Amino acid sequence: KEVLLEINHLKAYFPVKRKSMKEEKKVIKAVDDISIEIFRGETLGIVGESGSGKSTFGRTILKLVEPTAGEVLYKGQPIQHLKGSKLQSYRNQMQMIFQDPFSSLNPRMRVGSIIEEPMKLQLTLTKEQRKERVKELLQKVGLPEDAMHKFPHEFSGGQRQRIGIARALAIHPEFIIADEPVSALDVSVQSQVLNLMMDLQDEFQLTYLFISHDLSVVKHISDRVAVLYLGRVVEIGTKKELYANPLHPYTQALLSAIPVVNFDEPKQEILLQGELPSPMNPPVGCVFHTRCPFVMERCHQERPMLQHENNHQRVACFLYDK
Ligand code: SF4
Ligand code: MG
Repeated sequence: KEVLLEINHLKAYFPVKRKSMKEEKKVIKAVDDISIEIFRGETLGIVGESGSGKSTFGRTILKLVEPTAGEVLYKGQPIQHLKGSKLQSYRNQMQMIFQDPFSSLNPRMRVGSIIEEPMKLQLTLTKEQRKERVKELLQKVGLPEDAMHKFPHEFSGGQRQRIGIARALAIHPEFIIADEPVSALDVSVQSQVLNLMMDLQDEFQLTYLFISHDLSVVKHISDRVAVLYLGRVVEIGTKKELYANPLHPYTQALLSAIPVVNFDEPKQEILLQGELPSPMNPPVGCVFHTRCPFVMERCHQERPMLQHENNHQRVACFLYDK
């Protein structure tokens, strides 16, 4: 498998403004030492609660946020020094699909112009060619051709997300970050949009980073899944491994909260104590120790590293220390 993106020890810290000089200097550790490979053609799901750093992680890959440390390699090349036209061509390979297609689509623009806009950066296309491409894209995402003459508000939430997807595909990207793309949609519409995304992935050999707080949505679309907690990957594996055999106590708790379809096997929901701690003041040792039902003495001081447990499955937890 070809590695499209390699992320090494990525950190994104943000200083918090001090109210007075006496106050201690503080930082929010939104992304705290993440290393991940993203393979061409796969969907890597990133799951975490809000505040886990999953969106910042995506934005750092797109170079919309400068990392505090670590590096992102795209096809083996570090992206941190990219500037000007090189940075632009990197960004042209990457697109984002957002949670709320309504606020990310300009309400005063017609759908045709919205989808056409990214193509204008590619000066090689004539106006006629751009219009043809808009028609083609509308058809690919399952919207009628006359949609291009209408405004975003004339469409339903699911249709608006289709418009967002069409725009994202306009300039043939190879990598798409979808940040909670179906979270604002009705459950009945969610799977339609996910299925569309999967069909388009096959047709255009797209690679997805699919960010969501919703484990059942991630399960639908992902090949591999990484679980984030306070800016760290606590577990990563193939979808099959992770959902059949979650190793990290946090993953186990998240999965136990999903309603089961099979009533013969009732699940015991694992209830987590307390709230997600602030990323401004993350717990020392294992970041999960304040809520872990299996916490041990050493979890208070030492930080567990991500280690291989199964074939592709890695987990950061002392319960699996060999
Ligand atoms: Fe729980 Fe300790 Fe494992 Fe952290 S390292 S998840 S606190 S058992
Ligand atoms: Mg796929």
